[in-house]
Amino acid sequence: MTARALVDLAELEQRALEAELSARGHRRFHAGQIFRWMYQRGVTDPDAMTDLSRELRQMLADEFTVSTPALVQRERSVDGTEKFVLRLRDDRLIESVFIPDTPAPRYTFCISTQVGCAMACAFCLTGKMGLVRNLSAGEIVGQVRVLVDALGLHGVTFNIVFMGMGEPLHNYDETMKALRILADEDGFAMAPKRITLSTVGLLKELERLANEPIMPNLAISLHAPTDVQRGALVPINTKYGIADIIAACKRFPLKKRARITFEYVMLAGVNDRPEDARKLAQLLADVKSKVNLIPLNAAAGIPFERPSDEAVDRFGQILADHGLTVSVRKSRGRDIRAACGQLIVEGQKRSPGQKLAVVML
Ligand code: SAH
Repeated sequence: MTARALVDLAELEQRALEAELSARGHRRFHAGQIFRWMYQRGVTDPDAMTDLSRELRQMLADEFTVSTPALVQRERSVDGTEKFVLRLRDDRLIESVFIPDTPAPRYTFCISTQVGCAMACAFCLTGKMGLVRNLSAGEIVGQVRVLVDALGLHGVTFNIVFMGMGEPLHNYDETMKALRILADEDGFAMAPKRITLSTVGLLKELERLANEPIMPNLAISLHAPTDVQRGALVPINTKYGIADIIAACKRFPLKKRARITFEYVMLAGVNDRPEDARKLAQLLADVKSKVNLIPLNAAAGIPFERPSDEAVDRFGQILADHGLTVSVRKSRGRDIRAACGQLIVEGQKRSPGQKLAVVML
């Protein structure tokens, strides 16, 4: 028999698995059983899938595989946040974060969509890595499988935020496929409202997202009220300006009571002045929005400072006075560099430019 490439179950939506089974003379409904083993019970060894026939198990063992990111490091913060470093098939490393004690349902996973990131936001450490590569849908969902397993959270409800490494809309197809696998009734059966996708606001992809059957919550990394300020922080803003993004947000289909979150990293003396707050309030006046202020998580090599708590409160108060809903994001896991914008994996293969960036940290 000539060696054939194994089919990776981790990369298959249930429909595709049905087709693979059917092409091999097996009944389609076994796909649901296999999904439940993999996602609900964390079992990937066909031999242990005891409600499948011996013949089917043998076929799975011979012709299929399940790629799972390898857990190489696990670090726990004083606040209970845990950072997981995972190794992929090609030895690339990514990070995923477990945040306990969030508002119901209590657990949140912060998941990566790319190795590195191409967006190069001025205050973000991941941006310093540049984009190494996209993650596959199986690698995105694989992070969830590994965390659920490591934390013993099978059958427990949790939230997912696509706020780890990478820009999810820059890896559109695989991120959407991951959403479908996560939402599968026989998989993690995640309600879309438990998933939040955070983006710098890639315009074409935002429009595409508006037509997806599975609609996660949307968070837009705005960070500044004018194009001049935002352009200096988020380079892609020179391509799609604030007006474009706000217009796309206004067109975005939202369920009753749903709102778009606008994330705003606060940088001392840069975007935290009262006039910035007033401009931001104006900008969001007729958007169904809420604002999430994120005081900068400072790091060596990041040329900005975190504003004082008073400055953050003052800023938030102005927004609230203008009728906006405001929250301030707590920094979780800062002591283990697991907080927003602090995910960067040492020891990756780097280009000379990226090496320099890391030396500067
Ligand atoms: N690429 C996506 C998701 C990434 S991170 C996006 O840009 O939305 C999630 C949030 O953390 C983003 O709003 C990002 O701007 C913010 N962030 C990045 N670096 C940060 C830092 N050093 N301190 C605080 N927040 C940061």
